[in-house]
Amino acid sequence: MRLIIEARLVDGDSDTVEEGDGILSVVERPDCSLADPGLSLAEGRSLLAKVHTELLSKQVQRWLASQTHCESCGAALRHKDSRSTMLRTVYGKVTVKSPWLWSCACQGTARTEQRVVHPLSKALTRRVTPELEYLQAKWAAHLPYRQATNMLKEVLPLDKGISSSGIRDRILDLGEQLDADIERDIAHLPQSVADEQVRECCHVAAVSVDSAWLRNCDPGRDHGRHVNIVVGRATFTDGPPNCMHMCTGK
Ligand SMILES: [Zn+2]
Repeated sequence: MRLIIEARLVDGDSDTVEEGDGILSVVERPDCSLADPGLSLAEGRSLLAKVHTELLSKQVQRWLASQTHCESCGAALRHKDSRSTMLRTVYGKVTVKSPWLWSCACQGTARTEQRVVHPLSKALTRRVTPELEYLQAKWAAHLPYRQATNMLKEVLPLDKGISSSGIRDRILDLGEQLDADIERDIAHLPQSVADEQVRECCHVAAVSVDSAWLRNCDPGRDHGRHVNIVVGRATFTDGPPNCMHMCTGK
């Protein structure tokens, strides 16, 4: 038995069906047993990557077709060159063609020459999708970078699309953005409140805080009771570190 998955494109509300580039994937089950029920993880990853690449390529083609004429006078823009643009997504790296075009003569003046425009760069200002960045940040918050990378590669067709160093860089960028957001929020506080709540101590080099919930396993009256342990450590520039802890139960 073979399951043949084919891509077909339907334009707008038209009933006309445009044939795709062919068969996307063929899933074969040579015998009639149920030893391999449904798709395997590897087959699912491969199928997702192919469908995604097909869809994204078609989207880019259609969008680029609307960018080949001047927005002001409608004249066709001359083709200069063609490069490749790579986009990192949750379903892997996709490479699409990115044409370089000469700007329209109506946009230039006697002093300014025609310039080269890259239409795709206007639409894809970033080379990584927000969904992929979200997944990387979410799982790197729960797991070491390498384990987060391996987990995402195991369930998604990411192969060489992500790396533990890339996730680390992403987390550092995110941390800097959060710091900037906090600084901006502090700057917008009323001056008296800001002065009162933001007290910087030049002797503290670093503060780390961690928290965990523990459940009492002893049989008896306290079975199931939860205890929250909060531990903090302040490192000073001019003295030994100081540790603090706090326990609360419920
Ligand atoms: Zn023009």
